[in-house]
Amino acid sequence: MQDLRSLTHAELERFASETLGEPRFRADQLFQWIHAHGALDFGAMTNLSVALRERLAQVARLDTLVVDAVAESRDGTRKLRLLAHDGAAIESVLIPDEDKLTQCISSQVGCALDCRFCATAKLGFKRNLSPGEIVDQIYRARALLSEISPSRRVTNLVYMGMGEPLHNYENVVKSLRILNHDLGAKISLRRITVSTAGLVPAIEKLGTEDVRPNLAISLNATTDEVRGLVMPINKKWNIARLLQAVRAFPLERRRRITFEYVLLEGVNDSLEDAARLAQHLRGMPCKVNLIPWNPHPLSSYRRPTPLAVERFQNEVKRLGLPTYLRTPRGDDIDAACGQLAARAKR
Ligand code: SF4
Repeated sequence: MQDLRSLTHAELERFASETLGEPRFRADQLFQWIHAHGALDFGAMTNLSVALRERLAQVARLDTLVVDAVAESRDGTRKLRLLAHDGAAIESVLIPDEDKLTQCISSQVGCALDCRFCATAKLGFKRNLSPGEIVDQIYRARALLSEISPSRRVTNLVYMGMGEPLHNYENVVKSLRILNHDLGAKISLRRITVSTAGLVPAIEKLGTEDVRPNLAISLNATTDEVRGLVMPINKKWNIARLLQAVRAFPLERRRRITFEYVLLEGVNDSLEDAARLAQHLRGMPCKVNLIPWNPHPLSSYRRPTPLAVERFQNEVKRLGLPTYLRTPRGDDIDAACGQLAARAKR
């Protein structure tokens, strides 16, 4: 049985004509029900005949995530634990910031990379999320918000939850097509960011897609020696190779690359690191998000003191890089990615 939530509009057109023997405009109706109106089952699709709805129930399904737990932080961050149809637990986090509400979504159950600061890495890799499971995180968050905070809407999406999005390349690109489609959620690609640990061939491929989101790079070190320790993927594609691919990534007007830099005390937070960071990124349309590490019991790193963070930020700014401090959010609710799922596992 085909999960229709996972199909792009073009795939749904093929399904309508080849499997249902229906005209292609049926795909418009189905797509709207699933992605604009948030239908949870075929019975809700009232402009389709009863016979067609019954036929759909025989040949297709609509997988929906179940909100299993919601943890709310003192700072307003909400973390959702969602269960897939096979019981796999994934996470999605809603992060309010003044008039913005950013949703951080997952692309895999667990992760095959082994970034040493990351709680998700400790889960190991279980499986890729389907396109439907990726986009349904947004629909479940919308449904939740409409109940508890009707005036708030998600304004930005970041693929920065559990998993390496570019390891699940095809499904992530399909999810972008679905979310961006005019008959669906109509989310502008300017409001979507895909964050990667640095899979160079996939970055290069993403640069050729017609659905191209904003790109964020999880950099986290300024020498290959340190990055290789913190993020073993650096041994495959080192900093120079990664930055070469990033510099070639096509950018629309006024768009820029985001570099995420998790600050780890005594590891990557020296003034020499600040100078190297500025040197690496010189001349690139970019900004740097500094993220003091969010401690969790699965790793022994330490968060730098506020003074050390300020010193690092001031130095990077002084050297000419737009730099923003992302204060750790939701410390009181295991908001570091993977922690809530890891707790469920424990
Ligand atoms: S930081 Fe991202 S890419 Fe690295 S292990 Fe964690 S989830 Fe995977």
